[in-house]
Amino acid sequence: MQLVFASNNAHKLQEVRAILPEHEILSLEDINCHADIPETAETLEGNSLLKAQYVWDHYHLDCFADDTGLEIAALGNLPGVRTARWAGEPANPANNRKKALTELNGQTNRAARFRTVVTLIRDGKAEQVEGIVRGSIATAEYGNGGFGYDPLFIPEGYDKTFAELPAELKNTISHRARALQALKQIL
Ligand code: IMP
Repeated sequence: MQLVFASNNAHKLQEVRAILPEHEILSLEDINCHADIPETAETLEGNSLLKAQYVWDHYHLDCFADDTGLEIAALGNLPGVRTARWAGEPANPANNRKKALTELNGQTNRAARFRTVVTLIRDGKAEQVEGIVRGSIATAEYGNGGFGYDPLFIPEGYDKTFAELPAELKNTISHRARALQALKQIL
């Protein structure tokens, strides 16, 4: 089955193709879509639907899209849908990490989770699945691997951050991996 993944992120495409080898996964570039698809919703569910719906509406191809947020318990689940641009525009991962450490300064409850919502549209009908990895926010940055908030995020059951743990391990327990496994179940 041919499926468009509403992204041009090479890392994500590789992950998706590895988890769904039985499907032909096309990127936005593959379908000649060069639009900057608006992500103006107030929830991860809304933004992932906006992205998938854009592809369906303009290309009438079966497709799916993802949206991820970091939800920090002591901050009422912030930054959530604002995860990428928490410290302001343009998105800056180093400033975002600094903001997380500042906001949690002196806070003993460091519980957090990454949540990915995937919206699949088949024959115009939308279905959503999610993937969650629980963990905590470290008190300083550790490790050089990964991207984004990885140097701060310690997944439950481990004593190292995603940036210190092997990428292969992260790719089996991460929010995105779990959401893609859930997608695989409904395909
Ligand atoms: P997106 O929805 O996948 O673009 O993710 C939104 C933001 O969440 C990104 O800009 C990253 O800052 C952060 N993020 C998503 N996935 C990860 C991850 O696996 N590790 C660390 N940060 C992530």
